[in-house]
Amino acid sequence: MGKALIIGCGGVAGVVIHKCCQNSDVFEEIMIASRTKSKCDAIKEKLDGTTPTKIRTAKVDADNLDELCALIDEYKPDIVMNIALPYQDLTIMDACLKCGVNYMDTANYEPEDTDDPEWRAIYEKRCKEEGFTAYFDYSWQWAYKEKFEKAGLTALLGSGFDPGVTQAYCAYAQKHLFDQIDTIDILDCNGGDHGYPFATNFNPEINLREVSAPGSYWENGHWVEIPAMSIKREYDFDQVGHKDMYLLHHEEIESLAKNIPGVQRIRFFMTFGQSYLTHMKCLENVGMLSTTPIEFEGHQIVPIQFLKALLPDPATLGPRTKGKTNIGCIFTGKKDGKEKTAYIYNVCDHKACYREVGSQAISYTTGVPAMIGAMMLMTGRWNKPGVFTVEEFDPDPYMEALNKWGLPWQINDNPVLVD
Ligand code: NDP
Repeated sequence: MGKALIIGCGGVAGVVIHKCCQNSDVFEEIMIASRTKSKCDAIKEKLDGTTPTKIRTAKVDADNLDELCALIDEYKPDIVMNIALPYQDLTIMDACLKCGVNYMDTANYEPEDTDDPEWRAIYEKRCKEEGFTAYFDYSWQWAYKEKFEKAGLTALLGSGFDPGVTQAYCAYAQKHLFDQIDTIDILDCNGGDHGYPFATNFNPEINLREVSAPGSYWENGHWVEIPAMSIKREYDFDQVGHKDMYLLHHEEIESLAKNIPGVQRIRFFMTFGQSYLTHMKCLENVGMLSTTPIEFEGHQIVPIQFLKALLPDPATLGPRTKGKTNIGCIFTGKKDGKEKTAYIYNVCDHKACYREVGSQAISYTTGVPAMIGAMMLMTGRWNKPGVFTVEEFDPDPYMEALNKWGLPWQINDNPVLVD
């Protein structure tokens, strides 16, 4: 079928690469390009000879537009898969426009330097206008809509699990289960245990920025913001059991509020253990989560980047992690004039993921939908020019692919609701 350029070679990309190689009818050739080429070479060495997919590797700095364009022009991929960090989203989108190639990613844009005055002025205006203060939002990437339309190219934003699969669940519920969706609760439960007192399951810098931000939810047409971790609920998750979960701001709420007509409330909850929260609070209190550089013994260091260097690399958690994840959406609404509820969710086993692709379930549940999103564009099953999130496409082929490629979903028609 074609060629994909995969940018990044961390925890999630490791799964994406394995899954593309399992799906070599679609991904006949892949190029793995990242900042540290030795990581790309190591995974190529592991997979060469086990798959018909032809693998090449390259070094690229995805913050550098010229380097990206030179690589794209030389390799001529059908799609660029951005599995690096959200910091690179805009540069990679620029490169795709310049070189005429489709784009996809797994997380919406946020800047590396949150003290940049130009960015900060726009951010502060957005905080006032929109009513939430997270560093990430869709406005930066939605601003590319017209450019992608004019170029006849597609950009698929946020095809991981959440964002990503959660929005496919919403589109599926809208298409098949409800005439009107009134409320959506997205529940992200990780019942896994890696044995460390403190580690993050994906890039620590991005993860800690996300969970230490104030929480917010969408209600009756506007955002309601609350102090971080101030709304807590307990929920009994299928195959995991009782867990404490906390309301967070999350990017898909922003697009779902626009794309699910008449929705009254959208919330996002994530489970955290007490040890994680205590460590995070302590690190925050001493300034270790700060993104502002400080002077230390003649060097400029960014505290959260220094912390990242101390914490376990999420890509190494695979062999240590046991337990399951359970991620899904609870819907309330109406069908044929009657009140209705539904819960669509996936349960994923950390150890089974490790046996299959050598990664824990957080990387797996992100990497599989990233491969599927790219497959939707490469096979033409999702095909319209512009910049879109997952719920803006027909969910059926994506939902079918989730069952086929390792993330089977189920529906509970009578779930316990979250108050
Ligand atoms: P990692 O930190 O493990 O990997 C990031 C990779 O990107 C590394 O290989 C890194 O290179 C590379 N990279 C960073 N900067 C550059 C650059 N300037 N040029 C080229 N390569 C670069 O992160 P994860 O794999 O954990 O996360 C990947 C993405 O997935 C993130 O955007 C994260 O937010 C997203 N995510 C999405 C989820 C979802 O459900 N939607 C859930 C979890 C994660 P190097 O090895 O040299 O550091």
